[in-house]
Amino acid sequence: MKLYLDFDGVILDTISVTYQMIEDQNLQTRDEILNFYRTLDWNNLLKISPVMNDSINCIRKLIKTNIYDISVLTHVNSKHEEEEKIKMINRQFPDLEIIPCPKVIDKCDFVDPTGAILVDDYLPNLEKWEEKGGISVKFSDKNKKNDRFITITRLDQLLDIKFNSKDKRYIKA
Ligand SMILES: [Mg+2]
Repeated sequence: MKLYLDFDGVILDTISVTYQMIEDQNLQTRDEILNFYRTLDWNNLLKISPVMNDSINCIRKLIKTNIYDISVLTHVNSKHEEEEKIKMINRQFPDLEIIPCPKVIDKCDFVDPTGAILVDDYLPNLEKWEEKGGISVKFSDKNKKNDRFITITRLDQLLDIKFNSKDKRYIKA
């Protein structure tokens, strides 16, 4: 079964780190913040960002069990961000595919979501994914329950769920 994993907020906590940087530098205007993201050193950011809830080890576990055909599907704003994310994933998992999706395009329009699982922390991605025939799983590091989507706090919880791609039901084992 095809499984797509989001990167920011699911594998690494890049989001909290960049928010903290913006706060530390006291950036406030839209231009300041846009410029911050434009000049962000992704090599450094990926080095200093904490792993979300043991995700690296969880992915290793998922790969070993061979239940899912896994790809990382991540939104990117620049070529630099894309290159650094590819390097990082290749370093950790040499055989894992990473698909950089330009930020302006929805993930569900960049790959075929039919019958495929998307694990993401961003609700609009999950909503659109499901509308286009995919199976959406909400990742929440703080276990904030969601009414619409099944929620996981660790990626290895995917091993406890049986997905049925035909009618999109899932059964917790
Ligand atoms: Mg995300």
